[in-house]
Amino acid sequence: MLDVLIVGAGFGGLYGLHKLRSQGLRVQVIEAAPSVGGTWWANRYPGARVDIQSLEYSYSFDDALQQQWHWSERYASQPELLRYANHVADRFDLRRDIRLDTRVIAAHFDEQASLWRVLTDRDEALSARFVVMAIGPLSSPNTPAFPGLDTFTGPVLHSAQWPHEPVDFSGRDVAVVGTGSSAVQLIPIVAEQARTLTVFQRTPAYAVPAHNGPLEPEREARIKADYPAFRARNRRMRAGFGCELTPHPLPTMQVGAEERERQFEERWAIGGFSLLGAFVDTLTDMRANDACAEFVRGKIRQIVRDPAVAEALCPTHPIGCKRLCVDTGYYATYNRPNVTLVDIGDAPIERVTPRGLVSGGREFGFDTLILATGFDAFTGPLTRIDLRGRGGLHIRDKWRGGPLNYLGLTVAGFPNLFNLVGAGSTSAFTSVIVAIEHHVDWIAGCVAWLDAHGHATIEATEAAESAWVAYGNAIAQQTVFPHCNSWYLGANIAGKPRMFMPLAGGFPAYADRCAAAAREGYAGFAIR
Ligand code: NAP
Repeated sequence: MLDVLIVGAGFGGLYGLHKLRSQGLRVQVIEAAPSVGGTWWANRYPGARVDIQSLEYSYSFDDALQQQWHWSERYASQPELLRYANHVADRFDLRRDIRLDTRVIAAHFDEQASLWRVLTDRDEALSARFVVMAIGPLSSPNTPAFPGLDTFTGPVLHSAQWPHEPVDFSGRDVAVVGTGSSAVQLIPIVAEQARTLTVFQRTPAYAVPAHNGPLEPEREARIKADYPAFRARNRRMRAGFGCELTPHPLPTMQVGAEERERQFEERWAIGGFSLLGAFVDTLTDMRANDACAEFVRGKIRQIVRDPAVAEALCPTHPIGCKRLCVDTGYYATYNRPNVTLVDIGDAPIERVTPRGLVSGGREFGFDTLILATGFDAFTGPLTRIDLRGRGGLHIRDKWRGGPLNYLGLTVAGFPNLFNLVGAGSTSAFTSVIVAIEHHVDWIAGCVAWLDAHGHATIEATEAAESAWVAYGNAIAQQTVFPHCNSWYLGANIAGKPRMFMPLAGGFPAYADRCAAAAREGYAGFAIR
């Protein structure tokens, strides 16, 4: 019998194993892929790289690790991130407790024994006192049910299920469906290789340049000179990163137009998410948001030479409402003669044909189809498991109206089950490794407390869960987030209930709430 079974060997599962094992617990990680690395194993499309600088998107739990690991670029590429995950697995001797190539297909809570009974696709039955779901909020790829998709005669590639051997696009006529973060990263690279590239855009994306390049040695040295203090400063930031830049002291519209423009230009020159942090109210005040959005639309009009194409690329929804894309040459790619933008906002894809697709009654031809169509976020990874809590309650039924949860970590009716970077936590708005370390440390503290007090189970109460969801909704209502169709809301998946799933209140306030619940003897939980 295990103390803890962890599902997933991405960054969450790796740290979970290290932390819980070092507490003397018997821990086993089950991973469906043949490798550790999670999202960085699966998302290997050309151009895949992190959108938060690597000095901030990396583990902080071990000072020797953070001192010794050297990132070659400001924003690490997928292969480098995968090397990092493998390094961590080796360095902390994690592999002996990780079973690869094994998928958890069922987890049922046995009320008599107060244990989780877990079944894998290798017909193994495992029992554990606790289960930690470390499967990531973006691990269930969304393939839209386009009629005729199976009749397409060329390769169909999904950005999140990319082949492991290199794909050569030279001489090919390629189509990309989607213009989210994955598409924005892969489009410039595929465009350089393909004979033609046609991009089918349902909603234009806001993309801000990464200005990626070799990591500056002086910056690395400066941060490493006191890395723990830098990490601590970041943990006090709303997003868990970005402590080197503070917002302007005044709200956007109290600043003169010239000064506002100067602030935006400075942030554009720095790149990445820093633009959204130029002013404190970009995500909470529509006029402030529109000033920032208009600045980016201005950039698009400057970069893209054909005014009609530029206009089609200009988003009209609030900036940051869908996750901001961080790019390298995205808009400029539309100046290439071999690239065509097809706006399908008002003419959805009707069907895929053997040699193309039909939208707005018109057929477009190509021989390779890339679906960069995102994920069934937050709920998809859990609901595809036969996951049942007390009384056989299936997670699909529990979450029929949306992912109810308490502290983003637990679900009423599912005792001793913890979820990492899920709905109800700030993870989607945080450097996810900051969220992972926070969650794992909280869970480790909770398990230690239960054991020290001789308790067998902990379970969120329905009252605490309802209050938490209401709290999350109330915060979301004060922001721009409800005003577009994002994966945060489940709006990208046909038929999914619309509920704002992540918590928008900022990491420090969230961490305080979690700490307070623990301090108060796990307030909001039933403990037996
Ligand atoms: P996404 O942001 O959900 O984008 C999916 C794209 O596909 C959207 O443009 C969407 O249009 C389009 N789409 C979906 N279904 C469609 C349909 N039936 N017909 C036409 N178009 C359709 O997914 P993603 O790009 O994979 O990114 C998801 C998240 O993963 C990101 O927001 C980010 O958090 C993370 N990510 C990060 C990075 C990084 O830079 N490190 C890279 C990739 C992903 P609509 O907008 O109209 O729905």
